[in-house]
Amino acid sequence: MWGSRRSASWPGTSAGLPRWPKSKRSRRRVTAEHAARRLAGCDVVFGCTDDNAGRLVLSRLPTYYLTPVIDMGVLLSSDNGRLTGIDGRVTVVSPGSACLVCRGRIDLARAGSEQLPRR
Ligand SMILES: [Zn+2]
Repeated sequence: MWGSRRSASWPGTSAGLPRWPKSKRSRRRVTAEHAARRLAGCDVVFGCTDDNAGRLVLSRLPTYYLTPVIDMGVLLSSDNGRLTGIDGRVTVVSPGSACLVCRGRIDLARAGSEQLPRR
């Protein structure tokens, strides 16, 4: 997942030209509390998690912290070991819009099982 730290205003250069805000990439599991809390201060979060539990955490950011989330996913399809399709999805979840659960992008049963302790 990628996110940029929330700033009070759009940063500018001394010449008055806009520049991109700083961004940070994290490979930590968003289901870990300390990783999720870091995202609360971001301006925008790009979600690329492969699990439903992580997607469930990301889906709460727009509602709880007014942080927009751009969630992306890729599905590889195969038939007898032969690649038959590559499909992509981009879902923008902004404050006030339907979350990923309401849009059917999260399997809640799988999210629950993904949160079980691992041996
Ligand atoms: Zn919802």
